[in-house]
Amino acid sequence: MIIAIDGPAGAGKSTISQRLAARLGFVRLDTGALYRAVGLAATRAQIAADDESGLHSLVAELALRFDAEGRIWLGEEDVSEAIRTPAMSAAASRYAAAPAVRAGLLDLQRRLARQADSILDGRDIGTVVCPDADVKIFLTASVAERARRRHAELAAKGPAPSLQEVAADIEARDKADRERPIAPLRQADDAVVVDATSLSIDEVVARCAALVDAAR
Ligand code: C5P
Repeated sequence: MIIAIDGPAGAGKSTISQRLAARLGFVRLDTGALYRAVGLAATRAQIAADDESGLHSLVAELALRFDAEGRIWLGEEDVSEAIRTPAMSAAASRYAAAPAVRAGLLDLQRRLARQADSILDGRDIGTVVCPDADVKIFLTASVAERARRRHAELAAKGPAPSLQEVAADIEARDKADRERPIAPLRQADDAVVVDATSLSIDEVVARCAALVDAAR
């Protein structure tokens, strides 16, 4: 069984996917982490976002993998923390628009999704990566609420940008993700929208679990 959870930045896709995966005994595949890891590697290698051949070679040679705890590795390096900075959010979105990056990660995502009952969260899972997913959820929330949550998350880790800066980053990233020509952020026609603005995490998980139960 495949569950696709798409939606804009900061809507709670990670938390909800993790909870739902634990509850159902599914594997969770954080596809944003893949784009973030590519963004990190490309930034380090100083490859421009429009250098298609450079990005093609980079993605072909990257040894990207998730371990059993869901941590992401770039070769011998655990990059799970390094990819979670505002700079890496922006880099992920920039490089995610490159055709070479999207094509390279598409195969990998489909291969991973075939290995077990899976929950994939991202931007184009229901539309492009797994158009035949058994359940498609489009998780969203107001910009103010998403910014508030993302700000609290960053502040818990250390010095954080202001709430206004976080909101501006989220809006800029959503705009870029929605407007890119390939695999833009979009609700699949057959996706169910879950608006988490005034719901607790438990309520969102319950709503998503009910959608999964109905599809079984
Ligand atoms: O979900 P997360 O915020 O970690 O994703 C980081 C960036 O990766 C997104 O802003 C988006 O540009 C890109 N992404 C994507 N397609 C996916 C998942 C993430 O383009 N399926």
